[in-house]
Amino acid sequence: MRFRAAVLHRSGGRHVVEEVTLQPLAPTDVLVRLHASGLCHTDLEVIDGSLPYPLPIVLGHEGAGVVERVGEAVALVRPGDHVVCSWNPHCGHCFYCERDQPILCEPFTRHQPAGRLLDGGSRYRLGDGRTLHHFSTTSTHAQYTVVPESGAIAVPRELPFDRACLIGCGVMTGVGAACRMARVEAGASVVVIGCGAVGLNVVQGARLQQADLVIAIDRDPARLELARALGATHLLGPADGDAAAQAAAVKALTAGRGADHAFECAGGEAPLQLMYDAMRPGGQGVILGKVAVDRRVSLRFGSMMGEKRTIRSSYGGARPRRDFPWLARLYLDGRLKLDELITGRLPLERIDEGFDAMRAGRTLRTVLEIAH
Ligand SMILES: [Zn+2]
Ligand SMILES: [Zn+2]
Repeated sequence: MRFRAAVLHRSGGRHVVEEVTLQPLAPTDVLVRLHASGLCHTDLEVIDGSLPYPLPIVLGHEGAGVVERVGEAVALVRPGDHVVCSWNPHCGHCFYCERDQPILCEPFTRHQPAGRLLDGGSRYRLGDGRTLHHFSTTSTHAQYTVVPESGAIAVPRELPFDRACLIGCGVMTGVGAACRMARVEAGASVVVIGCGAVGLNVVQGARLQQADLVIAIDRDPARLELARALGATHLLGPADGDAAAQAAAVKALTAGRGADHAFECAGGEAPLQLMYDAMRPGGQGVILGKVAVDRRVSLRFGSMMGEKRTIRSSYGGARPRRDFPWLARLYLDGRLKLDELITGRLPLERIDEGFDAMRAGRTLRTVLEIAH
């Protein structure tokens, strides 16, 4: 079988949308006919080289579609199911899976950085026969993808594909950070630093947890207004001064103590420092933003004192088979907003325009609408 995929051949290059060949499915493989794929900042990190991956590769890790075919050992989904892909499939029985930390699943962390599936194999070939790498076992910027069984999560059919795909990364990471990692308490005070797709979903998660105070911080007034629409109670932007002034503003809103929960969703030294400065003694911080993996960051040591606890999270504590259907139902019930997060739609062939807009900071989520 052949299908069209957006292939990245070299770091810093443009995608080539070309025909690729599918190898035979393994017993636990699921072949998904994709209908929508979101462009996430992590894809851009691979394109620009700050997150190195073997090339050529098909990027994309926020995908939704319909199960086309399954290997003979697959029991969790069947052809015709509507699914959202999880970029963290897990084996269920390794050291970390047994300790309820599937994000660290050993077959996943062994093979995923090598551009391979959970079993160490690759299912794609270029037209000239060369191996084409998988990205985080999802590779959703394509007409089809092969994912391990635990990476294809059935969701209700009423959920439109362009909204469904968002659940696979940005929504899960942000909402999960508030609801699953931090477990924000009803009545708590929360500060969210950076209102991109992940930060806005932390705002939504904090609202779902019935936080009393949700303070959103961003440089972009439009993003702050969206944060308000998604549940932020207070907004801090450039007009409120520098980071030190913003930390003081958070303290002023929280009886001088700082917020119970602080979420760093911007990436970089200054936002990380602000997370510590805006958090109360005994509070909890979740680091969601990223910088290049070999970069050092320095922090004022005193800002970390006072029994502050911090966690770094990549996927919001996701348990996809528990959480994706939950998030889908929240949307269908009108309690989780997804429409507002989509700032553009493009066909697969124009994928690079979406990343150009992301580099320019003009997007929240561009969704590829994949034609067949
Ligand atoms: Zn992502
Ligand atoms: Zn495992």
